Amino acid sequence: MDFESLCVHGSGKKYDHTGAISVPIFQSATFAHPGVGESTGYDYSRTQNPTREYLEHTLAALEGGTDALAFSTGMAAVTTLMELFAPGDHLIVSDDLYGGTHRLFFQLSVKKGIKFTLAGDPSLMEAAITPATKAIFLETPTNPMMQVTDIAKVARLAAARGLRLIVDNTFLTPYFQRPLSLGADVVLHSGTKYLGGHNDTLAGFLVVKEPELAARLRFLANTMGTCLAPFDSWLILRGLKTLAARLTWQQKTAATIAAWLLTRPEVAAVRYPGLKSHPDYAISCRQTSGFGAMISFEIRDEALARQVLGRVKLIQFAESLGGVESLITYPTLQTHADIPAAEREAKGINGRLLRLSVGLEAAADLIADLTQALARR
Ligand SMILES: *Cc1c(COP(=O)(O)O)cnc(C)c1O
Repeated sequence: MDFESLCVHGSGKKYDHTGAISVPIFQSATFAHPGVGESTGYDYSRTQNPTREYLEHTLAALEGGTDALAFSTGMAAVTTLMELFAPGDHLIVSDDLYGGTHRLFFQLSVKKGIKFTLAGDPSLMEAAITPATKAIFLETPTNPMMQVTDIAKVARLAAARGLRLIVDNTFLTPYFQRPLSLGADVVLHSGTKYLGGHNDTLAGFLVVKEPELAARLRFLANTMGTCLAPFDSWLILRGLKTLAARLTWQQKTAATIAAWLLTRPEVAAVRYPGLKSHPDYAISCRQTSGFGAMISFEIRDEALARQVLGRVKLIQFAESLGGVESLITYPTLQTHADIPAAEREAKGINGRLLRLSVGLEAAADLIADLTQALARR
């Protein structure tokens, strides 16, 4: 089945005989057993719940994995994933990371004796490998600097050195990028973003190829209790139905806005993977089928950047991304505030940087809103 059809119909498993078109929300904590030593296949909803299972099978199919696990948030997914590692293990991670992931790695995982090296370029990643290295963790494109990494190249490196490759695919979703097909072992998602798509619930996912790794992650998720609730599973299933349609439209609008921003004298730089001026444009063309709808841009002066945040009307000044409502974020004070100031500044995450998540509004309305917000008064 093609991607669009899979989004609408999901894994197709039937759980009842009413003919319900929408998958039922099995709002039950526990399931009765037919007899001693027997099970309907469901025992307790922390372990598995039919609504969550339907969502997991759907996401596994969309990413081209053998299994997927749904978590209460993207951070719950990363937290569970980190239990794969033991004291002394070393990970190489993208040098531009979502702030919450950075906080988890450098404030919590380090307390368990796990070590990290930040690296951007694949050659720097290769140079950072030590006998203790167990995995490479990539975000591509990165949040918020929109750096793109050649997944296949890093996958070859990881395979040659016996390392696991984990890719955070939140920004592009399987509609535009399928890391497992490029050699990754694990795909991570904040389902809160494009997969849910409506800024109304939180979720996270891990999608894997190897059945043994899936079994290990299922053990961890069940033990840690990081699972997604039935109603939230249903909300993400509902969001997934329109994933392809939303992203097609959002990407088209984002390309229009990125081109418009380039013409503005107040704007010093525009970071959007679909611009020919993006340093990794060629890699994006090779490994993705689209450029997404996230744009980071730098205003010439900080006072004007702050003015934009205070003056936007249609665009909401809020954290998060990927929903139908356009949101603008100030990474330096919001999503990336916990990253040490020197490290943040060195990456270009400064007081002039704004991050725009382009929603489903008309491009002309979004441009009119940005125009009035940028006007010096
Ligand atoms: C939001 C986000 C996360 C964390 O997900 P939550 O659902 O907010 O816990 C992880 N990675 C990226 C790239 C994100 O944007």
